[in-house]
Amino acid sequence: MKIYNTLTRTKEEFTPITPGTVKMYVCGPTVYNYFHIGNARTFLFFDVVRRYLQYAGYTVTYIQNLTDIDDKLINQSIAEGIPVADIAKKYIAAFFQDAAALGIQPADQNPRATEYIGKMIGLIKKMEADGYAYEANGDVYFSVESIADYGALSGKKVEDLQVGARVEANTQKRHPADFTLWKAAKPGEPKWKSPWGEGRPGWHTECVVMSRDLLGEQFDIHAGAIDLIFPHHENEIAQAKATTGLNHARYWMHGGFLNIEGEKMSKSLDNFFLARDILKQYDAEAIRFFFLSKHYRSPIDFSREIIHESAQAVKNFYSALEDIDYLGIRDAAYTLDAVQLELREQFTTAMDDDFNTARAIAVLFDAAKQAKNQSNPVESRQKFAHILVEMGRALGFFGNLDEKLKTNLNETAEQLIQLFITYRTEAKKQKNWAMADRIRDDLKKLGIQLKDTPNGTEWKVEKQADFLP
Ligand code: AMP
Ligand code: ZN
Repeated sequence: MKIYNTLTRTKEEFTPITPGTVKMYVCGPTVYNYFHIGNARTFLFFDVVRRYLQYAGYTVTYIQNLTDIDDKLINQSIAEGIPVADIAKKYIAAFFQDAAALGIQPADQNPRATEYIGKMIGLIKKMEADGYAYEANGDVYFSVESIADYGALSGKKVEDLQVGARVEANTQKRHPADFTLWKAAKPGEPKWKSPWGEGRPGWHTECVVMSRDLLGEQFDIHAGAIDLIFPHHENEIAQAKATTGLNHARYWMHGGFLNIEGEKMSKSLDNFFLARDILKQYDAEAIRFFFLSKHYRSPIDFSREIIHESAQAVKNFYSALEDIDYLGIRDAAYTLDAVQLELREQFTTAMDDDFNTARAIAVLFDAAKQAKNQSNPVESRQKFAHILVEMGRALGFFGNLDEKLKTNLNETAEQLIQLFITYRTEAKKQKNWAMADRIRDDLKKLGIQLKDTPNGTEWKVEKQADFLP
């Protein structure tokens, strides 16, 4: 498997530190607002990296942090008139909700900056003691000249940064590119006690400390979109090197932007659509397809037209599965033939080449086409359906086949199920528990499973019942 490493600017053979396991850290959101569909591109792509690595047989530990203290949260707290902690709480809940709606698997852990203040102070103290950091009026800065190869990730040179940063004259800094490790609190701001007075840690320290705490001094993959290469990831590396002599991650992966009319979608440019709003208009899998049909390092222009086409393409996958009655055959044993194994080979070759999802999706198309092809023997079509689902799942599709394929029941069958649910609700109101249970159990025998939720009774097809089309 090859991965493009920003650090070496080449596609490198991927060799994890511990064979068979991958430890990865993806920079997460600053939780001061709902995330936009540009952020979603990055979150969703690394969800695919994780899924594919698992498909390829690796045990993956996936960490994504939540930046819950930052200037942006403080400003938002003033704007909404609620404490910073409540801003964080609100948008963390929204982050989990929207990520789940996008079909993104939850990380193994989501460390929060505010839970790591003590450890961050510890790291800053060590850097100060060792001569990598210095204090000025309650702020603490990292000295970029104190390490040998500052700029290795972004390709920037300390001398050039001098010129670029001169406009933002900060007389406290020894070098204009020195970055903040600790920031003294202004009146009314959230603050923590420290050897330099009350204040809060800077963003770049957070990810070094949390990744080290959860994944060790060196792990396999560190990721984000390209805007994080500089300064964020560069500054992380500087601190890691200053404290252990090691770059903390081996492979640095960066995704391209979602643009809108050629410009990066971003909150500051006010040219964004919230993921939750887009999800009201399009299916999550259509959005996934839209992103994956381009290579992750290429920019993508937001296009409703193409999302619409993506929705059609996803429907086509489902219709192939419906045609072959996939729910009816999914648990049956099967052995793939050379034609399906060939598709699997093409799929893994594409994905092993720096996650070429665009080519991988083309293979899914082929599988769907063959599953639909009436001139193939039915067993062969079923096997194409199996390989379609296998590959699709490795990209995060087909997470809820029962739900998606239950429309395979005809309308009358669905109405009948609804009718039985109504009778059961009536029976329960009359405390006729025996009847309520009987309805549930009899439906279950037919492969229809009922589930009582706060919003009423839901149903799903466990397996395709014989009498239904
Ligand atoms: P933020 O909450 O701004 O720190 O961003 C969270 C993640 O989204 C980071 O990995 C960013 O690099 C990424 N990101 C921000 N804007 C975009 C965009 N327009 N396209 C793709 N990724 C983005
Ligand atoms: Zn980070």
